[in-house]
This record gives sequence, C-alpha cells and structure tokens, in this order.
Amino acid sequence: MSNPTPRPSSSAILHRNLRKTPPLAVTGDGVHLVDADGKHYLDASGGAAVSCLGHAHPRVIEAITAQLGKLEYAHTSFFTNEPSERLAQMLVERAPAGFGHGRVAFLGSGSEAMEAAMKLARQYFVEIGQPGRVRFISRRMSYHGNTLGALAVGGHPGRRTMYQPMLIETSQIAPCYAYRNQRDGETAEAYGLRAADELDAEIRRLGPESVAAFVAEPIVGATLGTVPPVPGYLARIREICDRHGILFIADEVMCGMGRAGAMFVTGQEGVRPDIITIAKGLGAGYQPIAATMASERVAGAIEAGSGLLANGHTYMSHAVACAASIAVIETIENDGLLDNVDRLGRLLSRRLHEAFGQHPHVGDIRGRGLFQSLELVANRETKQPFVAKNQLATKIKQAAQDVGLICYPSSGTADGVNGDHVLLAPPFTISESQVDEIVERLRAALEATLSAKIAA
Ligand code: PLP
Repeated sequence: MSNPTPRPSSSAILHRNLRKTPPLAVTGDGVHLVDADGKHYLDASGGAAVSCLGHAHPRVIEAITAQLGKLEYAHTSFFTNEPSERLAQMLVERAPAGFGHGRVAFLGSGSEAMEAAMKLARQYFVEIGQPGRVRFISRRMSYHGNTLGALAVGGHPGRRTMYQPMLIETSQIAPCYAYRNQRDGETAEAYGLRAADELDAEIRRLGPESVAAFVAEPIVGATLGTVPPVPGYLARIREICDRHGILFIADEVMCGMGRAGAMFVTGQEGVRPDIITIAKGLGAGYQPIAATMASERVAGAIEAGSGLLANGHTYMSHAVACAASIAVIETIENDGLLDNVDRLGRLLSRRLHEAFGQHPHVGDIRGRGLFQSLELVANRETKQPFVAKNQLATKIKQAAQDVGLICYPSSGTADGVNGDHVLLAPPFTISESQVDEIVERLRAALEATLSAKIAA
C-alpha cells in the first residue's frame, strides 16, 4: 500500500525541521564551511562546540587514513586495540589531580557517555555493597544528552517535557548562575556556597543512603550559555559529596578538551571528580567519539569486586575514532593551542564587551576561553527576558547564517522557557582578525533580528 500522505519535501532525512531542508554543506576549510552554492560560513561555534581544530585539518585526516589502513574495528569482547589503549593512557595522564590510575571507556556520543557514567555509578555502589544508592541529583537548566537516562538528569524543561512520562525520577537543585541568582550585596563566594549547599539539603531530604551521584557541567554549556562556576562552588560540591559518600560526575562533554583553556575544567578548578565524561572536542568532529572516565576509586572497586564492566556497546573503543582523537590531542598540545584558547578567548571577550557591553538588549557577557556567550534580555535593568513566543534564538541563528556566521543561539535561558543566549565556540586555530569578523557578523545578525518587533 502506498503512503497516503504526499511527501512535502524531496529529502528522505528526518531533518530537525521536516518542512525545511537546511543548506547542503559540501566542504570545510579551516574555520569555514562551504555550502553547495559556494557560500562561505565562518564557523564560530564549531556546530555545537565540536570543531575545535576547524575543518579539514591535515594531521587528523592523515591519522584516520593511516589507522584505516591498519585496522578499522575489532570488537571489545574479543580484542583491545592500540589507539584506544594509547588514548586512554593519554587521558588518564591528563586527568585532574587525585583522579588516580583511572580507566576509560570510549563511546560514540556525549549522551552514551552520560548513560555509561550513570550506570558506572550504579555498578560502583553495587560492587561496594551499597545497592540502595540509586538516585541522581543534578541541576536545573542543565543538559546532559538526549537518551532517556541522560535526559532524566538534564534540567531543561523544553527538552524534557514530551518525554517526561518515560524518564526515571531525579532531583534537581539550582544551577550556579550568578547573573540571575546572586543576591545584591552577596559576594560571589558566599553565593557559591549558598548554591552548593542546596545539594546538601537535597541529599538529606532524600536520605544519603539512597543517593548515588551528583551530576553537573563544570561550565554550563547549551542551556544557560557558558556559565562558569563562581570561586569555591565546585570545591564545596566536592566536600558535600564526600560528606555523604556520593560520587561526583563531571559532564565535560562540551566544556572539556581545551575549550575553556584546559583539558579538564575540573582540573583547572582544582576539583577531583569521580567520573568524567568528554565528547565534542575529543574527536573535533572528525570522528564521533566520547569517553567515560572512571577514577581509580570507581574503577578499582569494580576491579576488586566482580571485575566485569556491566555496560557495553558494539562500537566501544573504535580504533579509527581513537586514532583521530590522539591526533586531535597531539595537535592541541604540539601547536600550543591551549595558549591560543586563552589569548584569543580574552580577545573575543574584550571585543564582545566593546561591541555589546552597553547594548540595551545584552544583559550579560560571560564565559571562559573560546567558550563565550551573550545573554539577551528585554530590559537590562530588570533582566526581564524576551518571551518564548518571539523565537528570538531561532531568528538570530537564521540571521547569522544569512550573513555567513555559524553561532549557537538557544532559548529558555532565564527560566527554561523564556530568555535567550548566543553561544560562541570557535576553533582554537582562529586568528585575531577572524575574532573581529565574528563580532561584526554577530552584530549584524543581532541588529537584523532585534530591529524587528519583539515582545518582552
Ligand atoms: N552533555 C553536555 C554538557 C552536552 O552539551 C551534550 C550535547 O550538547 C551532551 C551531554 C550530549 O552529547 P551528544 O549530543 O553527543 O549525545
């Protein structure tokens, strides 16, 4: 029987918008993407903070090609492989102080890494004889992925609502979001302790013996727009986790791997997580790869207990993906790109402040390294957000793409529904003049959008 509904579009892809096929990307070169009409786009967000080395980097392409010539894949229940062993070693050596002799699982996406992290936490407590610890606490306005477990710990109403009946029960505390939550007269440090102490209260409310882990992005990415923690916040989180014997899972899927100027933001903050997830910049877009890193405490308990990792996937430790990641990390380190992130991140922040510091609809400019955002507001004084029906983020994204700029706007910034921000995460290889170009194009996109009638 033929389908009674005529297909409105010629595309067979389940596009994000089924009524609109996006431009066809045909090639990439450095910080630019090029579509089928030959239009060049300055990739100022690496998609969603992925392409940290820009496009068509010869060293990564060479590493992938060389690995394909040796071994593409061997299933992990039969074999290990050289690139995965080497990459795991590299990551463990660069892990935050106190992580110890950890171990790493390589997966295909950030969501998969988060699922694996949650299962690892569960297995840890089963192994050490505390099987009652099954609950996860996370933060409102967070994003940890789209698979059901990861979505259940995520705290973004817009992304959760449709699937709510299918999600496991979790608790959410407030994020560390100084722009909106720090009180008048309160120091950043005092605010950080107050925000972190919500975790202590929630653990006590649930009963510590039922809680497995606290999950947080050290720098909040997509949902709030590059919000770093205030000084002392993460240290207090660590202290509270230790007080109650619960694990700290640091989701560094977006902020890790050099994006904020260090391979691990928790390392930069001097805080030791028990489990770390990384993805995006790990493969830089050359291969789909993510990792779940278990500290010595967690991996050691499993090794001393059953000895068996309970969770597994077909494409774990993919040899070509791991070879690509080794080349990415070597390029970042050998080319001194963390210094670039620091230097050009400061320049980007300065240029954003110069261009938008007095803008009536820019409430906050924030971030760390090449991970910077603008939060848009209807009223700078009251911080009142634009309401969701304006679809401001969607319009800015389109206006930016029209002027050849790829940036990453999102909505729901203020309360999960209303409010908007624009996130920038350009390649670490960007030049000073390209930083200026990003700011100029962003200014044009914002003016084109904000000059239209929008409701507060
Ligand atoms: N965690 C964070 C912090 C993310 O930003 C994302 C994706 O944006 C994920 C997890 C999920 O990663 P993926 O989209 O690769 O599944």
